Amino acid sequence: MNVYDSARMADVLAPVGYRPVDGPEDADMVILNTCHIREKAAEKVFSELGRLRALKRRKAMRGGRMILAVAGCVGQAEGAEIKARAPYVDMVFGPQTFHRLPDMVARADAAPQGADAGIFDTEFPAESKFDFLPEEQGSQGVSAFLAVQEGCDKFCTFCVVPYTRGGEFSRPAGGILAEARRLIAGGAREITLLGQNVNAWHGEAPDGAGRWGLGRLLRAVAELDGLGRLRYTTSHPGDMDDDLMAAHGEIAALMPFVHLPVQSGSDRILAAMNRKHRAADYLRVVDRLRQFRPDIALSSDFIVGFPGETDADFADTMALIERVGYAQAYSFKYSPRPGTPAADMDDRQVPEEVKTERLAALQALLNRQQLAFNRAAVGTAMTVLFDRPGRQPGQLLGRSPFMQAVHAAAGADRLGTLAEVRIERALANSLSGRLTAPAANQDAHAALEVTA
Ligand code: SAM
Ligand code: SF4
Repeated sequence: MNVYDSARMADVLAPVGYRPVDGPEDADMVILNTCHIREKAAEKVFSELGRLRALKRRKAMRGGRMILAVAGCVGQAEGAEIKARAPYVDMVFGPQTFHRLPDMVARADAAPQGADAGIFDTEFPAESKFDFLPEEQGSQGVSAFLAVQEGCDKFCTFCVVPYTRGGEFSRPAGGILAEARRLIAGGAREITLLGQNVNAWHGEAPDGAGRWGLGRLLRAVAELDGLGRLRYTTSHPGDMDDDLMAAHGEIAALMPFVHLPVQSGSDRILAAMNRKHRAADYLRVVDRLRQFRPDIALSSDFIVGFPGETDADFADTMALIERVGYAQAYSFKYSPRPGTPAADMDDRQVPEEVKTERLAALQALLNRQQLAFNRAAVGTAMTVLFDRPGRQPGQLLGRSPFMQAVHAAAGADRLGTLAEVRIERALANSLSGRLTAPAANQDAHAALEVTA
């Protein structure tokens, strides 16, 4: 979501004369777009600010000016602390106000040279920023993000998102479809619909008559000419309705991969997390998805060491992982976040060394599953969307339908195309193989046949 937001900030700033440059060294403005989800991510901001302060000073000594800004969820949650710890920061704003950047920049420009502008905009405005953002300027490339939903009303007890991104909001379908058409015209072959809880999306229908759910939206986006692949992330298990799950069996362009975080396999911990689902509910969703699309690959987020987590709770998580079988997953030690209910469960915090031990065991199991999943691809042919140069010269890197990273020897003319690759080698987190000539630019139906 921050990658998408950063691209949209560049769009907002283009009309007032800013364009993205490669590094911060001589930039006229540096915006740190930040994440507050875990303590480590938030702390990075302050170390980065120290480095940027030196660049800002150097530019001032040469008679120039560098506007320094902190955007995103750290800006939203820690505006006062930034002001205290880094008073040389000129602008602090949150995820919901960056459409006001031209105004903020004008105010920063008006501040006397050498003074810190001290601009703060961390309110949750009544207007939606999407109504004020200009059309996208540059192309996002062959694989593009499109935010359809933002914020969250679920209030899991560990999570800052409802406080930093604000309440749940669904963009109307008309604006989403228009943006998708522009992305495709700009060269996108794959679109990933984004939201903190993307499957809670329930936007106004294009004709204004009622609301659609995400399954209906995916069907509409898939019908747009020129689109090869469609994905969405991140989903909450409680919002996985039948129409959305059925879409996986019906839409050829919808890739057979779902990121569906469960966090824990223990009902006791899930209740303490306020996840609003039990392990069995999650497993029912997994089974139903597999009914509609038997080869669907799953990924998840896990938190180990949530306050009060016992060995038995952790064993439940490991059992759930064994039962599901993941293609990949993200896992984290619980990180207390100020202002969230779980951070105040002082008497039940799990010791650091226990978190470390559990995370290692959980990651070892997930890595084994990922390697087994990748090994099963060896000898098969997969459709790969090449979206970047590979590590070696003469190589391209792309994604399989199941989100695996795939390397293959291929000319630069294949960049941005769908090509069929025969998989020869599997590592824990990537595949490599050979192009089966001449399969460039296959359509989505061919992609489905190859992978099914
Ligand atoms: N909305 C998604 C859901 O409900 O599953 C998750 C979005 S959250 C931005 C991304 C992931 O960060 C979560 O799934 C969770 O695993 C992790 N996370 C959030 N807060 C955390 C915390 N306090 N400590 C550790 N991990 C955390
Ligand atoms: Fe955070 Fe996801 Fe829970 Fe919302 S549903 S509070 S985004 S973890």
